[in-house]
Amino acid sequence: MSGNDILLVEDEPAIREMVSFALGRAGLQVREAEDVTEAQSLLADKLPDLVLLDWMLPGVTGIDFARRLKREEYTRELPIIMLTARSDEDDKVGGLEAGVDDYVIKPFSPRELVARIRAVLRRARPEPADEPLSVDELQLDPSSHRVLARGSQLEMGPTEFRLLQFFMSHPERVYSREQLLDRVWGRNAYVEERTVDVHILRLRKVLGPYGYDRMVQTVRGAGYRFSAKV
Ligand code: CA
Repeated sequence: MSGNDILLVEDEPAIREMVSFALGRAGLQVREAEDVTEAQSLLADKLPDLVLLDWMLPGVTGIDFARRLKREEYTRELPIIMLTARSDEDDKVGGLEAGVDDYVIKPFSPRELVARIRAVLRRARPEPADEPLSVDELQLDPSSHRVLARGSQLEMGPTEFRLLQFFMSHPERVYSREQLLDRVWGRNAYVEERTVDVHILRLRKVLGPYGYDRMVQTVRGAGYRFSAKV
């Protein structure tokens, strides 16, 4: 559970400080934003494991932001816990419609908050990022950052590694260049779609001597797919 990255969006400095301190003690990493604009730029840097979102924020409200996050493909799976000062049923209904995962009503105890976060993370956890992946005799181990092809270690750049990791964990599905940029490079990457082709070529080159380059397939007019089938 440690090392989980929590994005806290809260405009009240005292609550931000209290929450950050409590989560830090629980071994969770916290990034803080005081409004939606700041939250969006932090999200673009790196997707957190969970968003703690204050209901009442200046500008765009927390609940509107939650709806937006649940609408976009890039952030749809992101678990959200709302922090709300109000407990009335209308809020709850609005939040449930927005797809929020849980609520914590202010004032809350740090212990309660940490327990709720852990529960949501346990439920959400879609795919452990560190799980070793293997297809045929191609193995990728995220924790040791190694790729083995029939037992031999392959040398590749960090982008090729992330690309291969993404492909191996999402096989048999076509991704457009734009989707790959979002998922592998992240939204803040100001790179052209052509960059994807460059790294695909490099990846194929590394996999080529073992014949695994055929798994990185071009799908005309659509993008790329990773498949063990020819
Ligand atoms: Ca507030």
